[in-house]
Amino acid sequence: MAIATSENLQVLLQVQEKDSQILAANHEIRELPERKEIEATQKDIEELKQVLKAKESEVHENNRTQKRLEDEVATIEERTENQKGKLYGGEVIAIKELQALEMDIESLKERQTVIEDQIIEVMELNEPIENEIQSLLQLQENHVKNEAKLSEALKEAINEIEIRISQIQVEINHLTKDLPSELINEYESLRSRPGHVGIAKLVNRTCNGCNLELPAVEVDRIKKISEDSIINCEECGCILVR
Ligand SMILES: [Zn+2]
Repeated sequence: MAIATSENLQVLLQVQEKDSQILAANHEIRELPERKEIEATQKDIEELKQVLKAKESEVHENNRTQKRLEDEVATIEERTENQKGKLYGGEVIAIKELQALEMDIESLKERQTVIEDQIIEVMELNEPIENEIQSLLQLQENHVKNEAKLSEALKEAINEIEIRISQIQVEINHLTKDLPSELINEYESLRSRPGHVGIAKLVNRTCNGCNLELPAVEVDRIKKISEDSIINCEECGCILVR
């Protein structure tokens, strides 16, 4: 039984067209714009994380400085209390010693004022940083929401294309169900080569599969071969439909 009847080849041409549509649809899935947008959003989130980390460590550093200064104030206060105890305790009576105590208390007070000013400065440093952290966190939240929205959109877009692909597949199955399996196998094995089609029309001397012009001698040879034999393009190997 002849397998490469002109009727079969015409059907196979339709199959090839649909297979090409599936290839294009799969390409579309890989190139959906949402993928790049998601990637960009994830990059933004990652960068924000780094900035936040730096800001937070700045705050921690300032907090540590504040704690150290507060500890210093506590030590000064303790020392002041101690010196005041001696000053008013009645044990020290020598004027020189009493004056020395007073001077020490005075300089401790001055030192305490300086440090307390430093504490206020450090606290003031943190204020704008903490405000900045708040707005960065808000921005991060927006990015995360946006990423979720994009992922959802991507899923829907993929789903739509996959539905389209399965509809095309149904049409292909319908077209191929009466074709001889030998012809289908030949077609499939030719089509499985990346960048190649399984079947194409020969228009004048040009193969529509590779768009190359066949030598006139070859075209003459093809014309002489029985209608029902499978003829392959000598350039790209696809089945030629005369
Ligand atoms: Zn060709």
